Amino acid sequence: MRALTLSAHGGLDRLEVRDDLPVPDVVSPTDVRVRVQAAALNHLDLFVVEGMPGVTITPPWVMGADGAGVVDAVGSEVQGIAPGDMVMINPGISDRSCEYCLAGEQPLCPRYRILGEHLPGTLAEYVVVPAPNVRVVPAGTPPAIAAAFPLSTLTAWRMVVKRARVEPGDDVLIWGIGGGVALAALQIVKRIGARAWVTSGSDEKLARAREMGADETINHRTTDVAREIRARTSKRGVTVVVDSVGEATWTKSLGALGRAGRLVTCGGTSGPMVQTDVRRLFWNQWTIMGSTMGNDSEFDAITAELRDGRLLPPIDSVHPLSDARAAFERLASGQQFGKVVVRIEE
Ligand SMILES: [Zn+2]
Repeated sequence: MRALTLSAHGGLDRLEVRDDLPVPDVVSPTDVRVRVQAAALNHLDLFVVEGMPGVTITPPWVMGADGAGVVDAVGSEVQGIAPGDMVMINPGISDRSCEYCLAGEQPLCPRYRILGEHLPGTLAEYVVVPAPNVRVVPAGTPPAIAAAFPLSTLTAWRMVVKRARVEPGDDVLIWGIGGGVALAALQIVKRIGARAWVTSGSDEKLARAREMGADETINHRTTDVAREIRARTSKRGVTVVVDSVGEATWTKSLGALGRAGRLVTCGGTSGPMVQTDVRRLFWNQWTIMGSTMGNDSEFDAITAELRDGRLLPPIDSVHPLSDARAAFERLASGQQFGKVVVRIEE
């Protein structure tokens, strides 16, 4: 089968389309095989290319976490999913046997693995995943939308709904509108009825965010975000910050956060090491919380949103598999507004 593979950690020049890989077999009775129609990129994929501590790949490594397509084979114990169903894939794979999994909190599984990072990914003609990791999407859903939806939306949903517990009265700051998680967070915050504050270094992206319902926009390249938020809120600050940028934004996130505020983070695209003044943390009675991916019931919840036509991810661009490296270059440029998608079927 054809797939986008990584020959070794390093730069994007290590990415290579190959057509000589074996089609994966359905081995476990609870697995399904998906003929992938589209895959979507996440910042995670760039980290995989660079290499991450503790993650070992076996070249030729098949890239890609997000994907959608048509089920073409199912294990003997699979129920409710049949060949021919169009599905989207939750790329977070858990062992389904530990105490966290049994409690329904799969992302806390000590053996949690992510497609394309720890397991062969979705940038391939076929991928095999456990049946609980797929959900049927309505026939006619564009493959690009179904592929672009799961990781960003699941991550943002858990951050906003489960962890930060955003309510209609909240003011929520979202950094870097244009990225997948930030755009999903914006849509979820507006769905809840809270006020969304978004930042970007691009006025054009801010204008597009306003069209999507953002209440307040700030250009973080030309404006001190924390100071601006203090000015626009009579010094009160926001109640929630959604931060996935890390080093470059952390201090300003805290500077924007009001008393008893909650900061939720799902990553550090600009770098992992952040500083927090513990005196401000306790005096302001802040809550700083981490979040990653989403559990089965959250996957159900976002699937219901998709079926109702809500939280649909903006698509920045769609690239053919033969030119998938261009998709990675687009993501690495930071110029995108929405998801960067790779079409697998020609
Ligand atoms: Zn587990």
